[in-house]
Parts: sequence; C-alpha cells; structure tokens
Amino acid sequence: MTNLGGPIPTVQLRHGAEMPVLGLGTAPMDDAETAAAVRQAVEFGYRHFDTAEQYGNERGVGLGIRDSGLDRSEVFVTTKFNRQWHSVDGARQAWRASIERLGTDYVDLLLIHWPHPAQDRYVDAFRGLVELLQDGSVRAIGTSNFKPAHIARIVEETGEVPDVNQIELSPYTTRDASRADSAARGIVTESYSPIKRGGLLTDPVVFEVAEAIGRTPAQTVLRWHVQQGLVPIPKSANPQRMQENATIFDFELTDEQLGRISALDRGEAAATDSDTVGH
Ligand code: NAP
Repeated sequence: MTNLGGPIPTVQLRHGAEMPVLGLGTAPMDDAETAAAVRQAVEFGYRHFDTAEQYGNERGVGLGIRDSGLDRSEVFVTTKFNRQWHSVDGARQAWRASIERLGTDYVDLLLIHWPHPAQDRYVDAFRGLVELLQDGSVRAIGTSNFKPAHIARIVEETGEVPDVNQIELSPYTTRDASRADSAARGIVTESYSPIKRGGLLTDPVVFEVAEAIGRTPAQTVLRWHVQQGLVPIPKSANPQRMQENATIFDFELTDEQLGRISALDRGEAAATDSDTVGH
C-alpha cells in the first residue's frame, strides 16, 4: 500500500494502474442520487467509484465527476457488464455503452459482473477484456463473484490474469480460500458489502473493539479490510457516514483485534453462491 498524493492510499495493480484502496459503492442509487453522492464524496477525499451497467447509474457517476471539477485522470472508475455481453465482441460493445453513459473515453477497471457458469461464456468475455486492455480502452481488467475455479479456468485458457476480483467479503464471510488464491496470483481482492449492508455494525465483538480504540463500528470493520490488503467499497449516500467511512487511515488494529474480528466468519455459505446466482 503506497500513499501517493492524497489521504486515501493506492495499490498498484498487476497491469500498472494505481487504485485507491477505498472506493464508494453506488448501488442502489439512481443517477441523481449518485451524482450528488460522488460530488460530496470527492470533498471527503474519495477518488474511486464503483458502478455497473446493472445499477443504471453510470450517468450519475460521470456527472458527479464532471461537477466535482476534478480531472478525469484524478479519479478511478470501475464498471461491470452483464452476462448478455459474455463474448469477445460483446465485451467491447458493453465497454462502448458504458463509456457513453459515463461520458468518458476510457474505464479504469472493467469487470465481468458474474461468471454465470450455466451460460459458460465467461472465458470469451475475459478474452474481450484482454483486447480492451491491450488497446488502452481500459486501464485494468477483472472479474466479480468469481470463485478460484473460475479464475483458474480463465488463466489457463487465456494465459492472462485479472487485476482484481471483486467479491462479497466481510468479517461475516471472510472468503479465505478466494483471498489466498488471488494473492498467490497477484490479483487484488475487492470487498463488496464490506459492512454487510450495516449488519455488522451491531455485532458485540465489533462494538467492543470499536469502543476500545475509540472508533465507530463501521470504521473498525473498514480498517479490518484495508489493513489486510483488501479494497472495500462501502456505499453511503449520507455525508456524515461517507466521511466516517473514509477516516480509517490514521489508526491501526492490533493482530489480536484483527483476529477477533476475523473469527466472526460464518463460512462460505454466508456468501451468495455465484455458481447459481448472477446476471
Ligand atoms: P455495504 O456497503 O456493506 O452497506 C451499505 C449500507 O450501509 C447502506 O444502507 C448505507 O446506508 C449503510 N452505511 C454505510 N456506511 C455506514 C455507516 N458508517 N454507519 C451506518 N450505516 C452505514 O453494502 P453494499 O451496498 O451491498 O455494497 C457496497 C457496494 O458494493 C455497492 O454499492 C456496489 O457498488 C457494490 N456491490 C457489488 C456487487 C457485485 O456483484 N459485484 C454486489 C453488491 C454490491 P446510507 O447510504 O444511508 O449511509
């Protein structure tokens, strides 16, 4: 984790892009809410925004960034495409539609939103991403909701490795096998639903650790992510909570505190099964 010019540090991805280690989630917000949230978040130091074709708010992300007055190069935008685009040409069509909605000419990180194994076309979708990376249309490529077996297959069949795998990950579902597999391949793991949609904030263990360090439960859980090299993308539309969630780079959890929080894991079954669910 390096700290290059800003309060939120960045991590260098395997294909060279620098990604801020905390992002703002945008689902479920519409374009107007998203634009307002992005503008507000920029004031609190956020430079990384997570959207998707599926969320219907890419226009809002683009608008918020333009209204913020920041240069496009100062922000990192992730978007994702649905299964109907799982082919080499489809990935390019999805990319083109996304940049039109975003109003930009490139995407920082483009993800296959779900593997959808029943359709069995995610390897071709990844081939399409590799082409987009090679011609500079995107700065990084990745997967979302991919299990180690899905990643193994794209690596074996294409010879290329994603920059990022974005998965459901929190102290209630720590995804140890996925994280170890990605770490061994040099893939950064991004955590979605990082505070379990608020569900972790009343957990007694989280509460105790938060009290001991004088931080809020949300800050404690988000620190648990970044201190382990995970990149959380908490969603908030509320300015106070947005700021709270970004104020996690000025304290540390002890190994004992990290361990107590990790012990809350309820196992793989607590996460959505991407072999059967997805769009
Ligand atoms: P989350 O970030 O764990 O939780 C968001 C919820 O927690 C919202 O209701 C928010 O409400 C509340 N919240 C945020 N900060 C808080 C704080 N400090 N104190 C109290 N409450 C707080 O869950 P998520 O939205 O499911 O996940 C985050 C992002 O991940 C999404 O927005 C989306 O970008 C992405 N995602 C990706 C996938 C995928 O398949 N790749 C799936 C799901 C989500 P307020 O807005 O009122 O603060």
